[in-house]
Amino acid sequence: MNKLKELKKISSILIATNNPGKFKELKELLPKHIKYFRPQDFKLKEPKETAKDFKGNARIKSLYCAKKSGLISISDDSGLEVEDLNGQPGIYSARWAGKLKNFSLAIEKIRKLLLKNKLSESKANFTCCISVGFPNGKSYEFLGKVFGKVTFPPKGKRGFGYDPIFVANKELKTFGQLPAKYKNSISHRYQAFKGVKKYFKFN
Ligand code: IMP
Repeated sequence: MNKLKELKKISSILIATNNPGKFKELKELLPKHIKYFRPQDFKLKEPKETAKDFKGNARIKSLYCAKKSGLISISDDSGLEVEDLNGQPGIYSARWAGKLKNFSLAIEKIRKLLLKNKLSESKANFTCCISVGFPNGKSYEFLGKVFGKVTFPPKGKRGFGYDPIFVANKELKTFGQLPAKYKNSISHRYQAFKGVKKYFKFN
């Protein structure tokens, strides 16, 4: 089947994430006429993220959901890479916050590790891989990055995860302080999404 038709004809998509922040940001980027489902609508658990990179983990999630639900499924695997911590937490960004998803804890861990190296900030980037998975086992992956720095103390109550410590290049405010619409126009997720749009030719 032609890829373009595949996305134009469809009326339902599963957004393969249990992270409410990601769900909201992805839904805002996707076409409005489509009905969006969550994994819990099909009682799906999150599969284990066993790959070694964002791309592999995004593919695991989109294909798991597509096969189980029978719907085209869009997943996002993303994270923060801190240059002076050799790219940590990277693909482990969610796991650093523990089972309770305590991002104050994860942010504090970054601050302390930098402090050990006598640093109060570091160059960093957010990376995102969006995977579009089809029930027939095919998938397409798109990568996006936004470069900047991590800085302390955390600022802003908007967004999610590590947003309060990330300042993108040319910006003065953290992602946690910026209006959602603005963050969504420069973020790693948006950069990855541009690839999705171009490939599947929708507006
Ligand atoms: P995973 O892709 O489910 O493994 O989780 C990625 C984790 O990276 C999230 O739980 C957040 O902690 C972090 N992350 C990814 N994207 C963003 C973002 O846009 N803002 C803040 N944190 C993010």
